[in-house]
Amino acid sequence: MSRIQLLSPRLANQIAAGEVVERPASVIKELLENSLDAGAKRIDIDVEQAGVKLLRVRDDGSGIEQDDLPLALSRHATSKIRDLDDLEAVATLGFRGEALASVSSVSRLTLTSCPEGADQAWQVETEGRDMAPSVRPAAHPRGTTVEVRDLFFNTPARRKFLRTEKTEFSHLEEVVKRLALSRFDVAFNLRHNGRPVLGLPPAQTEQEARRRVASVCGPAFVEQSRQIDSERSGLRLWGWVGLPTFSRSQADLQYFFVNGRMIKDKLVAHAVRQAYRDVLFNGRHPTFVLFMELDPAVVDVNVHPTKHEVRFRDGRMVHDFLFSTLYRALADQRPGDQAEGDE
Ligand code: ADP
Ligand code: MG
Repeated sequence: MSRIQLLSPRLANQIAAGEVVERPASVIKELLENSLDAGAKRIDIDVEQAGVKLLRVRDDGSGIEQDDLPLALSRHATSKIRDLDDLEAVATLGFRGEALASVSSVSRLTLTSCPEGADQAWQVETEGRDMAPSVRPAAHPRGTTVEVRDLFFNTPARRKFLRTEKTEFSHLEEVVKRLALSRFDVAFNLRHNGRPVLGLPPAQTEQEARRRVASVCGPAFVEQSRQIDSERSGLRLWGWVGLPTFSRSQADLQYFFVNGRMIKDKLVAHAVRQAYRDVLFNGRHPTFVLFMELDPAVVDVNVHPTKHEVRFRDGRMVHDFLFSTLYRALADQRPGDQAEGDE
């Protein structure tokens, strides 16, 4: 047997990266969540070769203080929580302080930032090295740019698992779409290999919101869906439910957000399936973009970095409300009379 040794910080980070950084799409998710947590109102995303060569996210958020820049790249360093009380009430998308450390251990990462009120921007860079980055002056307006080059250049075993550029980009685009649907108030621009793919101005009015949904889900979805907005005992459900004429052979146009977070949940899926049961052919999948809002105290949004489950305190009530709201929205799609709630 060999003797026990401490892992180097770099290797420890690379092992942690194995859990959160699976592909370019996972990097984009972490970077966009950081931008949103920083209060960004505009996020520009530049991608080359599906993000394997380059991923750049630039935001106009709160920025990072010069002295904090090296810390931002360290593991278990976060500005989002301080103690257990904060953890229980966490309202940000991230809080583990792991993402940038993980990503920077498997790529060449440059972080440039200018916080509010600073007259100078600063930059740190890592190259999968141990964690002692130097800080140098840079030019940048208020906000932050994270540039990730050559993902997995030093972990060839991971790189081997990447699929074609087309597949990787579609995963990445899907992440951007989800986050763009979760925050109508933020502008998102996505470019791939220099070509604009998504250009989403902030959407304040209802008409602008419809336009965003059309840009993300396609105009046909908006035309062939019904807009709903319903409220019952502290629960609100609003958004767009696709008509049976706009069903899909795959469950690939289904977005459900609980208090602004995209979730995938068995109870929700079941309620939706029941509501569509007698209007969809077998093997067809409904389409929807739905937002549920409720008191955060009665829902436990699972905070695992990659899972999407939630736990409702009163699951039965949520199920009933969801089912009956959707069932009613589709009432005129049903031939003949059927009793509401019939299962
Ligand atoms: P977490 O998001 O869990 O705190 P990260 O590793 O993703 O951990 O980021 C570490 C820290 O770096 C964050 O807590 C935040 O203070 C800072 N940070 C990262 N990205 C940004 C950004 N785009 N704007 C402002 N601060 C950021
Ligand atoms: Mg984060």
